[in-house]
Amino acid sequence: MIPIFDTHAHLDLEPFSNDLDAVIRRLESGTLPVVLDEPLNQPIEITGVLLPGIDAQSSYRCAELAKRSPLFHAAAAIHPNYVINATDNDWKIITELAHCDSVVAIGETGLDRYWDYTPIEQQIAALKQHIDLAVQTAKPIQIHCRDAWNDMLPILRQAVKEKNLTGIIHAFSGEPEQAAECIELGFYLSFAGSVTYRNAKFSPLWESAKIVPANRLLIETDSPYMTPHPFRGKLKRNEPSLAVMVAVRLAELRGTTLEEIAETTTQNARQLLCTPFIS
Ligand SMILES: [Zn+2]
Repeated sequence: MIPIFDTHAHLDLEPFSNDLDAVIRRLESGTLPVVLDEPLNQPIEITGVLLPGIDAQSSYRCAELAKRSPLFHAAAAIHPNYVINATDNDWKIITELAHCDSVVAIGETGLDRYWDYTPIEQQIAALKQHIDLAVQTAKPIQIHCRDAWNDMLPILRQAVKEKNLTGIIHAFSGEPEQAAECIELGFYLSFAGSVTYRNAKFSPLWESAKIVPANRLLIETDSPYMTPHPFRGKLKRNEPSLAVMVAVRLAELRGTTLEEIAETTTQNARQLLCTPFIS
């Protein structure tokens, strides 16, 4: 069995609303949603899925889902793109959820300069609020960073130094220089479908994937988005079992085996997310 822990899947969102029970059954039985062109010769076993919230309602749904399968773990936060819509009551819900046992991380939060929904100053203020929540609850943070490394790194540097912050950079998209800095700060780097894409513009990301120490490596799908190669464009949505394709690609880039990547990333995820927190 190839153990697969998907550290980022939005199973609470609309693309899963019609057949979530079937998806859960497939996850529990370790079946891929489609037949691979070149089938893997070993069956996979889903060992866990972290469900990040994107707003108060989504975070609540993720916390409820975490009660439906022992595979599921929830995270609570307001995604930077949706900070613009968040009310005081939404923040109150996030704060309450953050303290629940079924919520094991604070995420996804971060900065996004690719989309222009929330002004960057407001995104930064919300990120700092999430950092404080992670520190107060002694839970890891899950960071979304899109085209915003210059804003992000000084904030993380300060929070690590002054508040002992730790966590995951989700769907890591940076160059080796940024990867090295995140590693130095003690973060885990989670790779998604983008590392499997064959377009040369992703080559700095391939280089990043080579330099991450094994004990800081994680895999994810970002389902329903970022479907990995060779399924990109062929499936209507991504699913947690396809994180195995990210593991296949990491094994290729790092000159190791699928088994080694799968076991290491599961172990890392369990250590970070499945050990009880004392707050
Ligand atoms: Zn996400």
